[in-house]
Amino acid sequence: MAQDPQTLRFYAEEAAAYTTRGQAASQPRLEAFLSHLPAGSAILELGCGAGQDSEFMLARGFKVRPTDGTPEIARAAEVRLGVPVATLLFGDLDESMTCDGIWANACLLHIPRAELPGILARIHAALTPGGVFYASFKAGEADGRDQFDRYYNYPSEDWLRGLYAALPWASVTLEAEHGSGYDKKPTDWLHVTAQKPRN
Ligand code: SAM
Repeated sequence: MAQDPQTLRFYAEEAAAYTTRGQAASQPRLEAFLSHLPAGSAILELGCGAGQDSEFMLARGFKVRPTDGTPEIARAAEVRLGVPVATLLFGDLDESMTCDGIWANACLLHIPRAELPGILARIHAALTPGGVFYASFKAGEADGRDQFDRYYNYPSEDWLRGLYAALPWASVTLEAEHGSGYDKKPTDWLHVTAQKPRN
C-alpha cells in the first residue's frame, strides 16, 4: 500500500489549517524545473497541498494538472486555483507518457520505503521522452514518524541515489539543503531532479 493511513488522516483533519497558512511557492526550484520544459508543457503535480506551486506554474502558462491524495486538501486547492484538482493517490497513478513534467514537492516523503521503487517506476512510465521529474524528501537514516504521527521515509543521500539508479534516467541531480517544514523544526532536505532519456 503506497499510502500511510495516519498520514492521510492528519491531512484530512488539518486540511483547513494546512491549506490556509500562506505557504509560498517554491519559486527558485520551480524556476529551475520549468527551465527544462518547453512553453506550454503538460505538468502533473502530485500531492499539491494548498496548490501554491500549481498556481505558480499555471501563471506561467503551463498546462498543469494539480492532484492530491487527500480529498479535503484537493477540494481546498480546487477552490483556490479555480481548476479541477483530482484526488489521486500516488499508487493510483497509471499513465503512459502523458506528462512532460512531474512536480512532487515534499509529498513522496510520505510513501513507505518498500513502496517507493514502484511509485518511481509509475512516475517514470507517465513521463514523455525527455520528461522531467522533481521531488523533495526530508533526509535521514531510517524511516519514522513526526510529532503529528505523519510517516516519513527519511532517506539518506546514498539510499536515494540507489533508488533512482534502478530506473533508466538520462540524468539525476541531487541537492542537499538545510531548511524547515510545517513542524518548524530544522530539517535537512534532499531535492532530486531526474530527466527521462529522449528516446
Ligand atoms: N506539495 C505541497 C507543498 O509543497 O506545500 C504539499 C506538501 S504536504 C507536506 C504533503 C501532501 O501529500 C499533502 O497534501 C497530502 O495530502 C499528500 N499526500 C500524502 N500521502 C499521499 C498519497 N499517498 N498519495 C497522494 N498524496 C498524498
